[in-house]
Amino acid sequence: MKTLKSMRLHIGVFGKTNAGKSSFLNRIANQEISIVSDIAGTTTDVVEKSMELLPVGPVTFLDTAGLDDSTELAEKRIEKTMKVVNRIDVAVIVCDFNGIDEYEKELISKFDELKIPYLIVVNKCDLGRLSSQAVKQLSKPFIETSVITDERLVFKFKEALVKLLPDDFVNSPKIAGDLVPAGSTVILVTPIDKEAPKGRLILPQVQTIRDLLDSDCMPYVVKETELKQALTNLKTQPSLVITDSQAFKKVSEIVPDDIPLTSFSILFARLKGDLDEFANGAKAIENLKDGDMVLILESCTHHAIEDDIGRVKIPNLLRKRTGKNLVIHNYAGHDFPDVKDYKLIIHCGACMTNRREVLSRILTANQAGVPITNYGVAISYCLGILPRALKIFKTLL
Ligand code: SF4
Repeated sequence: MKTLKSMRLHIGVFGKTNAGKSSFLNRIANQEISIVSDIAGTTTDVVEKSMELLPVGPVTFLDTAGLDDSTELAEKRIEKTMKVVNRIDVAVIVCDFNGIDEYEKELISKFDELKIPYLIVVNKCDLGRLSSQAVKQLSKPFIETSVITDERLVFKFKEALVKLLPDDFVNSPKIAGDLVPAGSTVILVTPIDKEAPKGRLILPQVQTIRDLLDSDCMPYVVKETELKQALTNLKTQPSLVITDSQAFKKVSEIVPDDIPLTSFSILFARLKGDLDEFANGAKAIENLKDGDMVLILESCTHHAIEDDIGRVKIPNLLRKRTGKNLVIHNYAGHDFPDVKDYKLIIHCGACMTNRREVLSRILTANQAGVPITNYGVAISYCLGILPRALKIFKTLL
């Protein structure tokens, strides 16, 4: 899946020559994307590397030249480095355990002036006594590490990065409007069952309608019982059908294969979390064994009804799909319980919380080595229709 450059988070990596910028980047990317050498000044130009940094999403790292060279060539490097500042969303300043001096301070004041969020990575802490006191005194976000020996570096970096991400990157404005061209008809299937609140639609449905209207699309809202008739009524095929997850199976049998179909929960998995991560996490359902513990996480407390999705429907689907005797725990609220003993976490659609919180939860799950998915993705997986539900995102862009 290609992502437009403007939709990527651009992260500039700065620091003095051979502070460890390139090695840091190689650790994050887990590959050799810039030349690394012990000779000062090996990285002679800005090296760009685009990658998927789960769960943050698509990012481009800009590995800049060192700032403290005194040669003529270095002046050009510095010029280029400062030009990079104008096209980044976030900055990383790599320094070694000796702390910071004028070079880093110059960068910091530039980032403060331009309101660019930044993280200070204090490197080479394995080589001597930690002396990042000067960094601590700045009261700016920083991590202490060694890009060579610190096994937790990638986690530490992602955890700090999620906290720094600009709001407009974290809270992507589009729910479905970017999936179809303007002027498209989109059918929304909203069952009115016991779980539907009296006299209104639920928040994800309302937000999706508004998003489609904002994108100049024509949302057509029906219950699943009227879907067949709605498809017959339309003179042209809808560009997309979005259904409540709970009606997914029935809806997928009605909607012809050539019409893209997905669910509100899957749209919100993308909006409020990380769709790739959740799709990967769902694969763990296949490996569940008797006695395995599964954690069902909800972001808000709500009155559980008789046929509650998190307490009844999803547990039943999981048991049916796996044929295993699973131990399922439900947890609701903003705190994140200790997850290390679970074999799978299934998160709700998170309509009442923000993406930053869900991304932090994904990272915590990753750190504990526990796969994480969400309601819509897990339901589609159990019903065997996940590939169809994800198809519309694969063709995006
Ligand atoms: S935050 Fe989660 S549990 Fe609460 S209403 Fe939204 S999807 Fe349901």
